[in-house]
Amino acid sequence: MADPKGFLTTPRQEAPRRPVEERVRDWDEVYVPGGLLPIISGQADRCMDCGVPFCHDACPLGNLIPEWNDLVARGDWRAASERLHATNNFPEFTGRLCPAPCEAGCVLAIDPANRALPPGLETARAADPAPVTIKNVELAIADRAWQDGSVTPRPPERLTGRTVAVVGSGPAGLAAAQQLTRAGHTVAVYERDDRPGGLLRYGIPAFKMERRHLDRRLEQLTGEGVRFRTSTEVGQDVSAADLRARYDAVVLAIGATAWRDLDVPGRELAGIHQAMEYLPLADRVCQGDLAVSPLDASGKHVVIVGGGDTGADCLGTAVRQRAASVTQLDIYAMPDERRREEVDPWPTYPKVYRLSAAHEEAGALGTAPAADADARLFAASTLRFTGDAEGHVRQLHLVEVDDARRPRPGTERALPADLVLIALGFHGPERTPGGLVEQLGLGATARGIARDAAFGTDVPGVFVAGDAGRGQSLVVWAIAEGRSAAASVDRWLTGSTRLPAPVRAHDRPMSV
Ligand SMILES: Cc1cc2nc3c(=O)[nH]c(=O)nc-3n(C[C@H](O)[C@H](O)[C@H](O)COP(=O)(O)OP(=O)(O)OC[C@H]3O[C@@H](n4cnc5c(N)ncnc54)[C@H](O)[C@@H]3O)c2cc1C
Ligand code: SF4
Repeated sequence: MADPKGFLTTPRQEAPRRPVEERVRDWDEVYVPGGLLPIISGQADRCMDCGVPFCHDACPLGNLIPEWNDLVARGDWRAASERLHATNNFPEFTGRLCPAPCEAGCVLAIDPANRALPPGLETARAADPAPVTIKNVELAIADRAWQDGSVTPRPPERLTGRTVAVVGSGPAGLAAAQQLTRAGHTVAVYERDDRPGGLLRYGIPAFKMERRHLDRRLEQLTGEGVRFRTSTEVGQDVSAADLRARYDAVVLAIGATAWRDLDVPGRELAGIHQAMEYLPLADRVCQGDLAVSPLDASGKHVVIVGGGDTGADCLGTAVRQRAASVTQLDIYAMPDERRREEVDPWPTYPKVYRLSAAHEEAGALGTAPAADADARLFAASTLRFTGDAEGHVRQLHLVEVDDARRPRPGTERALPADLVLIALGFHGPERTPGGLVEQLGLGATARGIARDAAFGTDVPGVFVAGDAGRGQSLVVWAIAEGRSAAASVDRWLTGSTRLPAPVRAHDRPMSV
């Protein structure tokens, strides 16, 4: 900690976003390029090195946050990058995409309105709790390391002669592949899509993370010896039995993209699609595969059913496609702006009103005339859809609900809707009849594929990492699981391991 009073003298300042009018005309990241470097040393210096870093525990990767905050404050970027990469294979992904549970656990996030502060510290009673911008510091370290050329392939010094197949190339598969390759095993990653990356490639919009960051890491992995077999669906193009015969171990990192549907009258009308049918097509346009998405929102009244992040990604995408209007429905009531200690006490991750970049854009452009806030209608439950004579959806009928989801009488109304996007979450990995999971005869839990605490399944040598076991989660958990599963595989292959295992399969986010 270069300045022990930094948190008292320097206000929290986040990465500046580009003006709304400018950024909705392109698919680039929403942040001002280079906007972090001038402010980030001062922000890192706000870390008070509290001695009991809950931020570190709140991060599934166990990132060494106070250590690299101090190194950045002192301008030792190289050492900061080494400490960061010691626990995180892909910090430029998490620095852009993570919801930062670490910041909710920062001692500076203790809400002064809810706590009695010791005498003399009343001056620290800023209007809002103001944690260190940990995620921004992480991103600045990662981006600077790439700029300085210090991120290079680190191939193993010797090979073990053991082989591993990783199925799925999302963050869990990539992290497992990198860890196992560095441990000296020969790793092939099988991916059914035409390009590697999982949801980082086809799902999470480019305005949240430009694909060049992913491509750069893939080059690093290839340089270390990882081989990618794209456009290859295991269970169809290669059987599970073949894979087990050809490799000493198999890691399934196939994600959890079996979506939830909305069973209401009119669901069969044309123009009603799943978010994950819509978003990957927009990615295809960004990557030059298509001139226009077959599900383009241009000129349409769009309603997104589902108040989560996937819905917000649809919102940002529809705004960029120049929709006539876009409204996002959330069945929950509008959350409070501040943490409710009795429900989500510090240091857990609280449910509070958050304004994502997409919500900020939609709010500023007034895309949703009926919305309660930005583009969102809260406590709204979809009753049915109605359409035109051609069988195309034209209206979504909704009703307001109370906390128990009981309809409030007299609140029924209709929104114009030419394109409806269902973003109601996912119920685990896809289970194609006769497909990979069935071929291996793997069991299931309420979230995903059954596994033990060390990521192993009932089938010897077959491990499960990421959303495939945990259920739809976060990039940071996927990387942490990929690292831990790699440690288990290494131990299974060689009898011991020096690879780190930041999480166990059944660990859950910090909660009360
Ligand atoms: C729209 C959307 C936005 C999101 N935004 C964020 C965000 O901003 N921040 C965040 O932290 N998290 C976000 N998430 C969650 C995050 O993307 C996931 O938790 C994470 O990608 C999971 O990683 P994974 O490697 O387990 O699986 P995935 O990324 O889903 O990758 C699984 C891969 O396996 C492949 N595969 C599946 N079956 C087979 C097979 N039989 N053979 C070969 N390949 C196969 C798939 O094609 C896919 O490429 C978002 C999720 C969605 C849906
Ligand atoms: S990965 Fe997420 S939780 Fe961990 S330090 Fe980075 S932003 Fe925080």
